[in-house]
Amino acid sequence: MRIILIGPPGAGKGTQCQRLVEHLQIPHLSTGEMLRAAVKHKTPEGVLAERFMNEGQLVPDSIIVGMVTKRLESPDCRTGCLLDGFPRTRPQAETLDDLLERRAMSVDGVIELAVPRDELVRRMLARKRADDDPEIFSRRIASFEAQTTPLLDYYSRQGKLACIDGLGSADAIFARVKQAVRRFKWSSQGN
Ligand code: ADP
Repeated sequence: MRIILIGPPGAGKGTQCQRLVEHLQIPHLSTGEMLRAAVKHKTPEGVLAERFMNEGQLVPDSIIVGMVTKRLESPDCRTGCLLDGFPRTRPQAETLDDLLERRAMSVDGVIELAVPRDELVRRMLARKRADDDPEIFSRRIASFEAQTTPLLDYYSRQGKLACIDGLGSADAIFARVKQAVRRFKWSSQGN
C-alpha cells in the first residue's frame, strides 16, 4: 500500500503516522524528519533548507524531490510506504505521480486529517518546537491553506481522497484512519 497522509501543522499527523506504519508494516517517509536530520548533520541540502524551515516557508521542490526520489527507490519501499509531508504542492503531486508511473506504481489512497484552525493554534501553544513560534506557526498554516489544500482537490478528482475528522482521542482518530485504509484496499483490489 502506498498512502499519503495530509494535514495542517499540529493536526497530529506524527502520532497517526507512527501507528499506521506499525499497523501496515511499511516504511514511514516524513520529509519534515528527513529535513530536520539534514539540518542537524549540516548536509548541503540541510544548509539550504534551514532558512526556509525557520521562516515557516516551504523548502524548494528541487531539494525535496531529490530526497524523496532517493528514498522511494530504496528496496524497503518497493511494496509500499506512508508519505508524510510530501507531496505538499500541486507540482510535487504531479512529480510523484510521474515518478511512480515510470516504475509501474501508484498512490493507493490519500488521507486528509481535518482539524479546525483554532484547535491547531491551541495545540501549538501547548507544545514546543523551534518552528512553533506563534507568528511562524501562522505562516505554516497559511502556507498549508494556500499551497497544500489544492492537493485535496487533485486527489479527490482521482477518487483517492478520504477526509477524516482529526478531533477526538488518538485511538478514535486511528480507528477512522484504519477504516479509510480498508476502503483503499477494496478499491485497489477492484482495479
Ligand atoms: P508540519 O507538517 O508540522 O508543518 P513537517 O515536519 O512536515 O511539519 O515539516 C517541517 C518543515 O519542513 C515545513 O514547514 C517546511 O519548511 C519543510 N518541508 C517539509 N516537507 C516539505 C515539502 N514536501 N515541501 C517543501 N517543504 C517541506
